[in-house]
Amino acid sequence: MDTTQHRLGVVGAGTMGNGIAHVFARSGFEVSLYEVNQQALDRGLAMVRTNLDREAAKGKIDPAEVPAIYARLRPTLILNDLRDCTLVVEAATERLVIKQQIFHELDALLAPQAILATNTSSISITKLAGGTTRPDRVIGMHFFNPVPVMSLVEVIRGLQTSDATYETVRLLSLAAGKSPVEVNDAAGFVSNRVLMPLINEAIFAVMEGVATAEAVDEIFRLGMAHPMGPLTLADFIGLDVCLDIMRVLEEGLGDPKYRPCPLLIRMVDAGWLGRKSGRGFYTYPAKV
Ligand code: NAD
Repeated sequence: MDTTQHRLGVVGAGTMGNGIAHVFARSGFEVSLYEVNQQALDRGLAMVRTNLDREAAKGKIDPAEVPAIYARLRPTLILNDLRDCTLVVEAATERLVIKQQIFHELDALLAPQAILATNTSSISITKLAGGTTRPDRVIGMHFFNPVPVMSLVEVIRGLQTSDATYETVRLLSLAAGKSPVEVNDAAGFVSNRVLMPLINEAIFAVMEGVATAEAVDEIFRLGMAHPMGPLTLADFIGLDVCLDIMRVLEEGLGDPKYRPCPLLIRMVDAGWLGRKSGRGFYTYPAKV
């Protein structure tokens, strides 16, 4: 793909947004990176710089290329600066009203042929598309954390997404060095619909005293060759995020088999959110 054909935008420079901007810039695209406040923007840019330097130190990219990659990022606090973008990936906070507002503003701002993508983990693509004047050009691009490392992009087609939009996003994902996999819009898509009930069931096993968290994780590492067990992974994702996604599955699919485990609810109520709070199924040293 000719990278000069596309001008990309990323909304939100948090964990996912800075990673998405990183991989696009690394692949030769000009990327406008928008945030709502300077502090978050600076944090995101610093993270891109650190991660690029790390990739250079490991020999994954040529150290001489780092300044040029970094220079392809156009940080901004003004949404209007994204007006020439041919595709914008929204990676803001996971709240429907925030994403609807961003889509509403981008829809008014961008050229009619531009594509609006979202990195949401759980919000309906079809619903977000319905709030725009271009539902055929709205799509999900679900990247995985850490974005510069994980190759998958789950590409989610809303009910109205056109074949042309899907094809453009597929080619762009490949050009960014990722492996796109096509799925249709349904609660949790495929990744979370399968992963979260696994984590939830692992928590039931702990709650019922079937095994300790350590034993459950060891079974998955040694018996199923998972790189980490489901409870270590849950701590890494954040138990509050896991609970939110279980509730989306329960509500969206209407099946009691998606009922969140009471122990998961209690741990979130206690503020035991996993790695980020220092305690989840395991304890973590305080960050200095
Ligand atoms: P995060 O909290 O690290 O970052 C969100 C950023 O969005 C923050 O920097 C915040 O300032 C910014 N923001 C809030 N409102 C905004 C607005 N109106 N305009 C622009 N920026 C705004 O969150 P994250 O983990 O990067 O998640 C972002 C999205 O990616 C969510 O939809 C989440 O569900 C999804 N996601 C997260 C992961 C993950 O592992 N963290 C994986 C896949 C998908």
